[in-house]
Amino acid sequence: MVHYVELPGDRRYPVVIESLAALPAWLERVGLRHGRLLLVTDENIARLHLEPLRAALEAAGWTPRVLVLPPGEPTKALPYLERIYDEALRWGIDRRTPVLAFGGGVIGDLAGFAAATLLRGLPLVQVPTTLIAQVDSAIGGKTGINHARGKNLIGAFHQPVLVFADPSLLQTLPVREWTSGLAEVVKHALIGDPALFALLEERWADVMQRDAALLPELISQAVAVKIRVVMQDEREAGLRAILNFGHTFGHAIERVAGYGHFTHGEAVALGMLAALWLSHRRHPDLPVDRIRTLLQRLPVPGSPDTLDFEALREAMQVDKKALAGRLRFVLLRRVGEAYVADDVTEAELRDAWQFVL
Ligand code: NAD
Ligand code: ZN
Repeated sequence: MVHYVELPGDRRYPVVIESLAALPAWLERVGLRHGRLLLVTDENIARLHLEPLRAALEAAGWTPRVLVLPPGEPTKALPYLERIYDEALRWGIDRRTPVLAFGGGVIGDLAGFAAATLLRGLPLVQVPTTLIAQVDSAIGGKTGINHARGKNLIGAFHQPVLVFADPSLLQTLPVREWTSGLAEVVKHALIGDPALFALLEERWADVMQRDAALLPELISQAVAVKIRVVMQDEREAGLRAILNFGHTFGHAIERVAGYGHFTHGEAVALGMLAALWLSHRRHPDLPVDRIRTLLQRLPVPGSPDTLDFEALREAMQVDKKALAGRLRFVLLRRVGEAYVADDVTEAELRDAWQFVL
């Protein structure tokens, strides 16, 4: 399956959902020349999936240089960016040397930023290996690293020349990474695709079991939503903000619980419940019970009622400052249609949080 991301100025790139064996042919199809290729990955992915990829690249005439970094969010930081720079420049690259990011969102964001900045921009190939990365982070061109002051504070827009997602790679994901990614898939359904919402409702058991026959379809539909949003708004301003459905509360929950307590997807699952309550208040026709049922199927370990509401509200105020004075929420008008509202009152927030608990 292939989708295309079309951008202003006649730029476009394919998002391919297929087995890794087809990657070399696609590299050629997007115009990359054989030769050196800088492959960045992490230890978990290297252990599970690197050798077949390396062999396929070498068989097709590529000379990959493999850089294996430690897994986890702390890798998305300056010291590891520097390692990529050092390795690339010592080895010898030119402006046509592709950077291939083989990993989850951490590797994609980090190697993507390296590609954006080395020699003022190298061709970037995203080969995402987590569900979040396949349906979300590898598409859209946002790259970057964290800083001690906060997440994603240093970065650049740099669109890939190819995104290549092999659904079979997801079979080895730890279960909590799988369900966290599903939260973003549910989000894509709610903000952009009633058919995907129905698919999730009907085939939830198969989804949780990662039914190999279902995965390509599931990923393809979720990818299509992300592409549609990105195409309408490459650089954030308006429509792209709807991707933050569930994220205003979600980010606050992550921060107040302490990063690492809830995964990002778990926090977003809770945040979507709060946003659902706010949406239903404005749009009484919204099928709130169906949506709530689906959201509550996403497993969230522990209980959010240990979180202090005042602390959450404060954490959301921090976001508010960043957004020049307005607390913005993404709300649903109906399944498949979202918009940004800035009329949410403080009193409503408390009630929305009660709905989550
Ligand atoms: P991740 O990259 O840390 O991967 C999660 C874990 O899964 C890691 O331990 C990794 O080693 C392991 N893993 C990856 N693929 C595997 C596989 N196939 N089998 C077994 N284990 C595997 O995290 P993530 O959830 O993919 O991404 C989170 C990051 O993405 C965050 O830094 C977030 O800021 C970023 N993000 C970026 C965008 C964007 O638009 N650029 C969007 C959403 C999220
Ligand atoms: Zn998210």
